[in-house]
Amino acid sequence: MRRAVRLCGSALLGLLAGAAARAEEWQELSGPGVIVEAAPRYAGFAESLVRSFPARAAEVRAALGAGPPALVKVTVARDAAELSRRLSVPLRPWVAGVALKGKAHVGLNAASLRPPTGLPAAVILRHELSHLVLGERLGPERTIPLWLEEGVCQWVGGSAYLGQRSDLVSRLSFGALIPWGALVRSFPDDAQQAALAYVQSYAFVDYLATARGGRFVLELVDAAACGTPVPRAVFELTGEAQVDLESAWMRYERERERRLLYFLQAVSPLVVGAVLVVLAWRRRARVARFLLERMEEEEAMPAALPPVGCGPVREP
Ligand SMILES: [Zn+2]
Repeated sequence: MRRAVRLCGSALLGLLAGAAARAEEWQELSGPGVIVEAAPRYAGFAESLVRSFPARAAEVRAALGAGPPALVKVTVARDAAELSRRLSVPLRPWVAGVALKGKAHVGLNAASLRPPTGLPAAVILRHELSHLVLGERLGPERTIPLWLEEGVCQWVGGSAYLGQRSDLVSRLSFGALIPWGALVRSFPDDAQQAALAYVQSYAFVDYLATARGGRFVLELVDAAACGTPVPRAVFELTGEAQVDLESAWMRYERERERRLLYFLQAVSPLVVGAVLVVLAWRRRARVARFLLERMEEEEAMPAALPPVGCGPVREP
């Protein structure tokens, strides 16, 4: 009798395990231009991704003059570790999205999308689709400075780091921006410095697009892809030195913060101290959030389309 009970128990456990495994079987949903693969618990999210994908692709096409590949696969995973296993690429735990250039494949970390602190899925999707478009535009042999690529992708995606503009402005005031030359191949490992790298890249590209137009940004991308150093490309395209554009950008950013600075100068030192404490607390919260939100880790894969047409690559 006891043996029979034990056998029944084993069979029950086996059935439960089988049911759990079936419940975790990933499913694929497809729609115009996209295949979304996700576990059943994300079925609703996957459906919304399929429905909204044409709109996201159109937004990217409108901004960059070219759309994502004809068919994009989107993988939605529970967290970065699961996403890493699913895509077979190493990812850091705070990664929110990843674009596999040349494979027309995007990965989304659902943990970083969860309300109320999560990022809008549309922002991450536009960002990662922009990486795919740039990957096809540049081809496998050419790269552009990372600050320019991340700036362009945030400009198209919609910045998720606007709350850190105050950091940017204080850095501007103290002349403590990260040199562009230090952001060519990688961003800093330090979370706060990396956050600054993102917002600095976004803010400068956004300013260039606002002041000179989106077409200028794309011409800058193409020139950089053809090996022209960005300062020289800026001069050839505008007749102005990059440092002059940077000065204009800094004035633009300072003007945006002018009212806040006047307010801080007008209130008493005691209130200033209280404000600084609050800002320090918010900064800590932002950095913690940033660890989950940071979008990078784009794997450079061979692109399927030919690179942007260039003349002979110029010597730096
Ligand atoms: Zn990115």
